[in-house]
Amino acid sequence: MGFKTKQIHAGVTPDPITGSILTPIYQTTTYVQDSVDEYLSKGYSYSRSNNPTVRALELKMTDLEDAKDSVCFGTGMAAIQGVMLAFLNAGDHAIISDVAYGGTYRLCTKILSRFNVDFTFVDSSDLAAVKAAIKDNTALILTETPANPTMKCTDISGVSKIAKQAGILHAVDNTYLTPYFQRPLELGADMTIYSTTKYMDGHNATVGGAVVCATQEHADEVRFIQGSTGSIMSPQVAWLTLQGCKTMSIRLEAQSANAMAIAEYLEKHSKVDQVMYPGLKSFPQYELANSQATGYGAMLWFDLKGGVTAGKKLMDNINVFSLAENLGSVESLITHPVTMTHAAVDEAERIRVGILDGLVRVSVGLEDVEDLIGALDEALAKI
Ligand code: PLP
Repeated sequence: MGFKTKQIHAGVTPDPITGSILTPIYQTTTYVQDSVDEYLSKGYSYSRSNNPTVRALELKMTDLEDAKDSVCFGTGMAAIQGVMLAFLNAGDHAIISDVAYGGTYRLCTKILSRFNVDFTFVDSSDLAAVKAAIKDNTALILTETPANPTMKCTDISGVSKIAKQAGILHAVDNTYLTPYFQRPLELGADMTIYSTTKYMDGHNATVGGAVVCATQEHADEVRFIQGSTGSIMSPQVAWLTLQGCKTMSIRLEAQSANAMAIAEYLEKHSKVDQVMYPGLKSFPQYELANSQATGYGAMLWFDLKGGVTAGKKLMDNINVFSLAENLGSVESLITHPVTMTHAAVDEAERIRVGILDGLVRVSVGLEDVEDLIGALDEALAKI
């Protein structure tokens, strides 16, 4: 089956009692067992461990990536935490992309470090640096590509080879591109991680996460954490995400086409210093982006001449785009990290992850591209 067929049908069978074409929201805490001897014969005992609506989404995620099994979590961060708790013990070391999502950095440095897990944040676009960071106690490499918000890409198959040779697991946060555009497991990774909040939901309706595993053994270990820490996705979120997934490829194609047009427009604008979008020939890792993904996605950033003042002015004058955190939705969203998401982050840390004063991050949505470019044009004229 092709991706578009699977995104609609995988994991979902008509309800056996009513024929309902959509998997119902199984809003229940517990499941009545037929007898002690037949305990768990229908597969469910308590909704912290498993739920049929959540399971339908897990099966869909698994099929979309031709994986072995998947585990869905309450948020993307819970999914990342699930992987770390499953595969890191006190005394272990992990290598993380230096520009990984801020929440991942915070989880490592502020929480897991308290439990004697050691982290090295490396420039994972440099394979030699990844190799050099491996220690005797390294158990996990987590890369994020393209990274949020810098768009820095990591060679998934290169890192996977290094990880395999050293007997280390490689997990890839594939939130930006989804399995429609990028398939880390086929490139040798052991697990992919998603914030389903983004393109799988696609409508700004939920927060959720998933870990998609190449082996059953790894999935079982992640599922043990899901149940033990109480971090499973809720059935309503799973239901909404099941519906969102059905149009994922179509949304991604259209949003990426919009993003390409916007990137090309911005690149020619006199008030813009630099545009970072994998589809532009000027993108520093254009060849890598083309070699490991079949699309460029709908995230981009640009750096305004005039730094913080210009960034604020743009935010104050932009229409159509919403000033909001999140990404991947049909609504176009725009953020100025220095004055918004990263306002509390100290300057050295901001510089470390490449967040310039005039950097504006855009999550391109599904509106008419003429309206999006028109809104940018008007706001840029006011700077
Ligand atoms: N990974 C990436 C790349 C993200 O951008 C985010 C959130 O923005 C997360 C993980 C965390 O996901 P959530 O917000 O669903 O916890």
